[in-house]
Amino acid sequence: MAKIIDGKLISAQIKDEVKEAAAKLKEQGREVTLAVIQVGNDPASSVYVGNKKKACEYVGFRSLSYELAEETTEQELLDLIAELNDRADVDGILVQLPIPKHMDEDKVIAAISPDKDVDGFHAVSVGHLWIGKEGFVSCTPAGIIELLKRSGIEMSGKECVVVGRSNIVGKPMAALMLRENSTVTVCHSRTTDLKEVTKRADILIVAIGKPQFITADYVKPGATVIDVGIHRLEGKKLCGDVAYAEVEPIAGAITPVPGGVGPMTIAMLMKNCLEAALRKQQ
Ligand code: NDP
Repeated sequence: MAKIIDGKLISAQIKDEVKEAAAKLKEQGREVTLAVIQVGNDPASSVYVGNKKKACEYVGFRSLSYELAEETTEQELLDLIAELNDRADVDGILVQLPIPKHMDEDKVIAAISPDKDVDGFHAVSVGHLWIGKEGFVSCTPAGIIELLKRSGIEMSGKECVVVGRSNIVGKPMAALMLRENSTVTVCHSRTTDLKEVTKRADILIVAIGKPQFITADYVKPGATVIDVGIHRLEGKKLCGDVAYAEVEPIAGAITPVPGGVGPMTIAMLMKNCLEAALRKQQ
C-alpha cells in the first residue's frame, strides 16, 4: 500500500502560512494585491479565475479583476498590462490563458514585468530558474516540489523521470528536480520504449494529458508517483494520467486525482504573490 500524498492538506497548510504572512504585512499597512485579467468568457477560464479570486479572499489579499470583452484588441490588453506594471500597489499580474486567437500569447506574457510574473511564464523567470537565480516558478511544478518535501521524500541523488515537456509543467519540473539534485530524464511523445525509461524512476512525474495512460508495468515497485493529469471521465468521475487503482498497490507513495497535485497550483500562486510583495520591500 502506497503512502497517499495529500495535496488537499498540504495546499491548505501553505495557504494558511501565506495568510499569516499577509496579515503581518497588512499590519504594516501593505495589502498584497493580485491583478487578474480574463479576456472573453470561456466557462472553464471563468471557473479558474473565480477560484483564484476566492483563494485571494481566503489568504487576505486584494484581488483586482479585469474582465475584458472577447473583441478587446491586443494593444488594449498590452496597455492594461503596462499600466499594472507601473502601479506600485499591484504585486502580481496574471493573464488567464488561453487568450483569444487574435492575440499573440508570447507577446502578452513578455509584456508582464518579471517582478510581477506570479505565474512564472515569462522568459526571464524561466531563464532564472535554469541558471539557478531567484525568480518566480510555474505554480504546478513548484507545488510538486512542496508535495515531495513536505511528504519527506528524498530527491537528492534519486532517479527522476518526468513524462511530458510542456513549458508550464514538464520543462520547469525537470529544472526544479535538477535543482534538488535528482538525476533527471525527460520523456515525450518521441521517446522510444517509454516503459523502459519510466521503470528506472525512483520518482516518476507524469504530465502527458492522457487518461490513465501509466499502468503498473511502467512503474518500479516502491517508486513515488506524481500524477499531474486531470480528466473528467464519462459519469463525471475525475482521473489522472496514471491508472491509480493498479499503480497504487505497487507504488511507495502516490498522489491521488483529485486531491493531489491539483489543489497545489492555486496555493503556489498565492505563495508567489506574497513573495512578489516581500521582494518589493527588500
Ligand atoms: P501538454 O499537452 O502541453 O504536454 C503533454 C506532454 O506529454 C508533451 O510534452 C507530449 O510530448 C507528452 N506526451 C504526449 N503523449 C505522450 C506519450 N504517448 N508518451 C510520452 N509523452 C507523451 O500538457 P500539459 O503539460 O499542459 O498538461 C499535462 C496534463 O496535466 C494535462 O492532463 C493537464 O490537464 C494537466 N495539468 C494539470 C494541472 C494541475 O493544476 N493539476 C496544471 C497543468 C496541467 P510532445 O512534446 O512530444 O508532444
